[in-house]
Parts: sequence; C-alpha cells; structure tokens
Amino acid sequence: MIIVLKPQATEQDANVLLNQIEQCGLKPIYMPGVERIVLGALGDERVLQQCHFEANPLVEEVKPILTKYKRVSRDVQPHDSVVHIGNVPVGGQHFVVMAGPCSVESESQLLSVAERVKTHGARVLRGGAFKPRTSPYDFQGMGVEGLKLLKQASDLTGMPTVSEVMEISQVDAVCEYIDCLQIGARNMQNYGLLKAVGETGKPVLLKRGLSATIEECLLAAEYIVDAGNPNVILCERGIRTYETATRNTLDLNAVALMKQRSHLPVLVDPSHGTGVRELVTPLSRAAAAVGADGIIVESHLNPSEALSDGHQALTGDMFAQLMQELTPFVQAAGRKL
Ligand code: PEP
Ligand code: MN
Repeated sequence: MIIVLKPQATEQDANVLLNQIEQCGLKPIYMPGVERIVLGALGDERVLQQCHFEANPLVEEVKPILTKYKRVSRDVQPHDSVVHIGNVPVGGQHFVVMAGPCSVESESQLLSVAERVKTHGARVLRGGAFKPRTSPYDFQGMGVEGLKLLKQASDLTGMPTVSEVMEISQVDAVCEYIDCLQIGARNMQNYGLLKAVGETGKPVLLKRGLSATIEECLLAAEYIVDAGNPNVILCERGIRTYETATRNTLDLNAVALMKQRSHLPVLVDPSHGTGVRELVTPLSRAAAAVGADGIIVESHLNPSEALSDGHQALTGDMFAQLMQELTPFVQAAGRKL
C-alpha cells in the first residue's frame, strides 16, 4: 500500500503514521519526495484493509501497489535510484561502462587490460575470480588470489571493481576486496545468496537468469532490497530462446520495461547477450538508445589465450572503437560517458 500525505504533512506527522504502520504488523517505508511525503506499508493485504489509514486527515490518498515486487517498483519511488560503486554513480546522468576480462587469469593479464580499458573511458573494472562454468573441467577461476589481484588493479588504476560471488561462504572474501558484488545469471534465484548479499549493504549487480521472466528478476531484486540493501543494479545479459546463431538472445524489451517498472538502474551485458565479439559494439549502441544506464563488457588483450569466453572478448583496439562508436548514441539518449 502507498500512503500519499498532504503537502502540509511534516516529517513528525510521517513518523506518527510510520509507528502506526509498524504497530499493525506491517513494514513501514519512508519516502520523502520534493512536494510531499509518501509512505509505504508492506504486508498482508487483509491487515492493510483493517488499518484505515485513509481516515487520517493528513492522508491524501491510499493506493495499493499492484505489482508483486514492492520496494523496487516505480510506484513506490518515482525517481531513478543512483547506486554508487566506489566513487562511480550508476543510474544518473552518466552512462557507465564497466569492462575487463571474463576471468582474472594472472597479474599481468589483469593489469594490462585494466590500464587499457581505463585509458579509453571504462569507469568500473570487471573480472571473475569465482567462475560459474558449465563444465566442471573448465577453468574455475583463481578464487581469493583473483580477488586480491582485482584489488591491486583497482588501487593502481583508481577504478572500483565488480566480481561475482557464487556462494554464501564467499560473501565475506568478496566484500573484503571488491566494491560491487555480482550475482550471476545462474544464481539469480538462489534466495539464500540474495539475502546474504542483501545483508552486506554493498552494491549488487544482479544478472537476469537465463530463463527468468522480468517479474522473477524484479522479485529477485526485491529479496536483496528487503534484506536491507537498496543498492541493486539490474543487468540484462541475454536469455535462452530457440535461436542458436548467437549464444543468447539479448532482450532489449526487458531493459525498456524494467526502466518503466522499477527505479533501479539497469545495465546491459552485450558480451554474454550475444557471445560474439563483432556484435558487442552494435548491441552496446542499442543499449544506450533503449535507455540503459550502462554496459558491462568483456575485454582481453589476447583473446585467443583467454581461459574463458575468449570468443566474445573485445581486443584493446576493439574496446577503443566501441567507446568511439558509442559516444553519439549516449549523447542522443541525453547522457554523458
Ligand atoms: C560473467 O559475467 O562472466 C558471467 C558468468 O555472467 P553470467 O552470469 O551473465 O553468465
Ligand atoms: Mn564471461
């Protein structure tokens, strides 16, 4: 339920109502707006109906939140959320480019690509240390050593980092070295993990599951926010369809729809979305045009030697070209790089 207060209602008035909401056994949310205060009351619909908040003279309107997800809904917060990864704002005026290798492989591999993408305008460094590989015989990542290398690269370049956490037992280590926790597509509905990252308060990049609906993705985000962490960034990374010419089908519908339905920032991952390095730049331009808040792309200075996802990695030159070709699309979308 959303409770819109009259313009003259003060923060003190709101506090009285928030207490009443809590006493009814509901979860209160306080959302100060520019013109008026809006409150949220989350919980059992039957209890909500018995509380009669509309009878309060300071209440202008009481309306139900019609979606299953509540806290991430635009109904609850009409303005865009901005999530800070280190000193980089995601979701504001800037279109953020995150880049780096699929996997951290060695100090020289990571540092060289980090310097390169930074030079061409990447703001956040990506790199997997714990890797969710389809085959158990493939490279599984460097683990904590990889996290330490990411920290080193971050200290050297000034770029904050994003890296995947696959299990609850890895959360503390990833939090120690990394600025933004990535929940991979395969773990989007791992509710224990979602709650665990929700309790950290760190920014979370939540990737849409391979076969997850948009509503399921927003409900996964709701788990993290409900656990106390509002710093969630959604990421469309392609879904499974009947098409086999590309690794996945990048669902740009989802980007436009999630931007409408939710106040959270939305990124696009054209690397996993297509699985084809030549398609990364065109789909990055499309991401900017459709209203995404940024992209996350894979880059490797020697893709033929990459230990994972080499076929979709941009070389240093291709990354430079991407940034050049992206610029007019970002500007046309009213954003800055
Ligand atoms: C990745 O970012 O390297 C990754 C494994 O992504 P996804 O979870 O989207 O497959
Ligand atoms: Mn990858």
